[in-house]
Amino acid sequence: MSRKLKLFKPDKWAPKTRRTALIAAVAAFALFAGAVALSLFNNWQVEFTGLPEEDTITVECGSEYAPPEVTAELRGNVFCTGGRALEVEREGEVDFTKPGEYELSWRVSYFGGSKTPRRVVRVVDTTPPVITLTPEEREYVLPGADYDDPGYSAADIADGDLTARVVRTIEGSVATYTVSDAAGNVATATREIPFDDPVPPEITLKGEKSVTYTVGEGKYEEPGFTAADNLDGDVTDKVEVKGAVDDNNPGVYTLRYVVKDSYGNETTVRRTVTVRAKDGTVPGGEDSPEIDGAGKVIYLTFDDGPSKYTEKLLDVLKKYNVKATFFVVKTGRVDLIAREAAEGHTVAIHSLTHEYKDIYKSEEAYFADLDAMNEIIKEKTGSYSKLLRFPGGSSNTVSRFNKGIMTRLAALVEEKGYKYFDWNVSSGDAGGTTSTEQVYKNVIGGVKNRKYSIVLQHDIKGFSVDAVERIIVWGLEHGFTFLPLTEESPGAHFKINN
Ligand code: ZN
Repeated sequence: MSRKLKLFKPDKWAPKTRRTALIAAVAAFALFAGAVALSLFNNWQVEFTGLPEEDTITVECGSEYAPPEVTAELRGNVFCTGGRALEVEREGEVDFTKPGEYELSWRVSYFGGSKTPRRVVRVVDTTPPVITLTPEEREYVLPGADYDDPGYSAADIADGDLTARVVRTIEGSVATYTVSDAAGNVATATREIPFDDPVPPEITLKGEKSVTYTVGEGKYEEPGFTAADNLDGDVTDKVEVKGAVDDNNPGVYTLRYVVKDSYGNETTVRRTVTVRAKDGTVPGGEDSPEIDGAGKVIYLTFDDGPSKYTEKLLDVLKKYNVKATFFVVKTGRVDLIAREAAEGHTVAIHSLTHEYKDIYKSEEAYFADLDAMNEIIKEKTGSYSKLLRFPGGSSNTVSRFNKGIMTRLAALVEEKGYKYFDWNVSSGDAGGTTSTEQVYKNVIGGVKNRKYSIVLQHDIKGFSVDAVERIIVWGLEHGFTFLPLTEESPGAHFKINN
């Protein structure tokens, strides 16, 4: 205090002025000291709002986190008791797309001091990458070769494109794709590969497909064959030859060459060997070498059964592995419907009662009869049939008591999803003939120049059933193919007459 007073120079002021100045100086000093003393006791406080409580904040990489908005207020016991907003300066940035630790600080300064609270933001990556597989659109992929993948990609929030780091493994028909990001998060994806081989092997017969010689003048010697498969390669040694030729017994012999590839696709080709008797005749054979049935199809169809002749017929069909079609009714051995279906034949609807005057009375009556028969078929075979043949055929005139009924029914059955079949080869067994020989001749004559033949026979007629074995032998000998009717088969529709 004395040092400060020495600054005044008493000789420059009048005594009265000096005293006043002295009082002013003392007062100013007192105020200043008081302010300093009071400010020391003012207990300045800075109050932050919005500052996270934890020292370290953990945030997932790529999340929408934003740094907190922090505000501050200065408060004291004596001054500023109401609070005064302070300007907050934030320092530090956080890159939420990159894992790491980032420091954020908020600095405030005020009269007599400053404060800088700090927080650490830890950006972590616990999210695995995402693997996207391009869909496999092929129906099948041939097994055995490297899987020609339709493609995939992998992306990670932190690491970006990771496609190049995807590891693919194939076990059985499952492909597994695995990738991990820099933080060690692992992603996997799998797909079922449609490994399949729908292509059967091919058998090539050496020599003729049809061989003929006379008893005593020749001897059957297998000319040989080869077989190749798209995947298995040469499968010649897997071919089984079924059947045998008896050189001493005239007859028509069918040899079947059967081979299966490792995917279970089976191929059968046939060779027919005709052994003639010395007098030139062949039991069951017909001397007509000009007929070539290759590529021609015979659909054997039998109406109005099953009957007491049907078991014998099924035995013959089984012997030659020929599949036929049965348009069944309820009146006979309905128990045989199950066997017909079980042995690979087509079971189709003919009629429950086959009574023209009842079924063609009205559309309702027709469908009531059809539905009832189809229920029996369902019960015996496990499924309903979509195939039918109108009693009398679609061209029948017996229904003329109800004008236009066949025209309406033909349209209606198709509308309801059925397919109806007539025929283009008649055996004549419905009235024209009662002889097995004539049935045989009628059928042979009918099919020989047709690309496809729907043959009508009735398995309630014994003499007609008796002709079937000769028809089959003749057909196989001439290279025809026997098939059962399906929804894709030609319908051989007649012109409707009512
Ligand atoms: Zn009929």
